[in-house]
Amino acid sequence: MTPTNLVTEQFISCLPKVELHLHLEGSVLPETLRELCRSKERDASGVEAWIDGQRRRGYRYSAFPDFVEAFKFVAILLETPRDYALATTRLVEWLAAQNVKYAEITLSAGVVLWKKQPLDAVYEAIRAAALQAEARLGLRVNWIFDAVRQFGVDPARQVAEWAGRYRSHGVVAFGLGGDEARGPAELFRDVYREARDLGLHTVAHAGETAGAESVRQAVELLGAERIGHGLAAARNPEVVALLRDRRIPLEACPSSNVAMGLIPRFEDYPLPVFLEAGVLLTLNSDDPALFNSSIERELFQAAGGFALSRRQVAQLCENAVRAAFLPAEEKRRLLESVREAAA
Ligand SMILES: [Zn+2]
Repeated sequence: MTPTNLVTEQFISCLPKVELHLHLEGSVLPETLRELCRSKERDASGVEAWIDGQRRRGYRYSAFPDFVEAFKFVAILLETPRDYALATTRLVEWLAAQNVKYAEITLSAGVVLWKKQPLDAVYEAIRAAALQAEARLGLRVNWIFDAVRQFGVDPARQVAEWAGRYRSHGVVAFGLGGDEARGPAELFRDVYREARDLGLHTVAHAGETAGAESVRQAVELLGAERIGHGLAAARNPEVVALLRDRRIPLEACPSSNVAMGLIPRFEDYPLPVFLEAGVLLTLNSDDPALFNSSIERELFQAAGGFALSRRQVAQLCENAVRAAFLPAEEKRRLLESVREAAA
């Protein structure tokens, strides 16, 4: 590799980036948790102990339920629309600092409803905070409303209906996350069809807590346009071929997979399997505050772990532009800016 082809941190930091798989609740950094406590004049000792515990465990989780506990800890601290707005503002600022130009952020709308909070007030506060930060910082954000598989069909349907109501106000897609075994795809066929009838795009977490078959079902039964993770697909050439042939992008989150113990090390992520098969692969941070990840670090680690050239790293950013739920003209402009920065 020639020195000019060397992928430096500076090269990555200058690349215009697109992040497609990022959970708002999993993005609340320790500083923001402290700020939340201060804003409510609340004793922060419990939060400090939790932050310390997260650091001491190295942001690793023994199994999915263990991670769900951490996610819940933060979600419960988001008590009011104002709290959600603060989390949004800080997240958009953090993305802008990484030269992210466009993000599709997932709101666990299913969790907001589970907490019995008013989803309209929560989303309207989030949207207003995001729009303000976007205008100030020069990036763009859209939203994905996510339902929780193990909560069942009716709550998922409610989430899809809410997403449909806000379709002209920044919500571009309906998605499904959580435990694949306890909430298999076949249960949600009708909900996905209804979401599409409402004019929404559809995505699904799959092949994270279950095998390749779960990825196939998300594509064939749900008609998901993008797959969150899809890690397990790498073990089944037929499912890899299905993703390639149907042009279904993967929202890969290798650091998240390492943190959950699904792969031992970042460089064990099957990136070569997907790229060599011609699958449209994008890199994402998933829950950056819970995994100590970021889109910049994902790109940098991929470059180092898989000896990628500058062109290949830029290609990953271009893949994310292609996989985004954006109008063609905006994609064209973003692609141009990535190419210019990488030249
Ligand atoms: Zn996720």
